[in-house]
Amino acid sequence: MLDRARSLLPEKTLTFERFEVPSIDSFIQGNKTIIRNFDLIAQKLRRGSQLLAKYFSKELAVPVSIDGGKLVLNGKFYERNLKEKLQAFVDSAVICKECKRPDTKISEIGGVKTLICEACGARNPVKL
Ligand SMILES: [Zn+2]
Repeated sequence: MLDRARSLLPEKTLTFERFEVPSIDSFIQGNKTIIRNFDLIAQKLRRGSQLLAKYFSKELAVPVSIDGGKLVLNGKFYERNLKEKLQAFVDSAVICKECKRPDTKISEIGGVKTLICEACGARNPVKL
């Protein structure tokens, strides 16, 4: 009975796994915010740390620097706020728009940053 019900479901719902956005480990020091596990986050998202650093800098409108695997933001930010930005980054620059999988990479095609899905082959321009 259960098997029968399952076979009626579209394949997508069976294979779909929500991609888990890495948690942010940050603290405020003086007027700066430091993301301690920045390198690990970039690795988990399979994105270059420079690209991710640039994104945070632009979104939060502050200068940033990378210091030994940590990201230093010139401003005070709560972890909740940083998490929202990271989630937005994942939604636009990691997850495939078509199949919702995270098996993607970013390449420049004709001068446009494009999210290429290795699972379904979809290509979508990314705004970063
Ligand atoms: Zn896809």
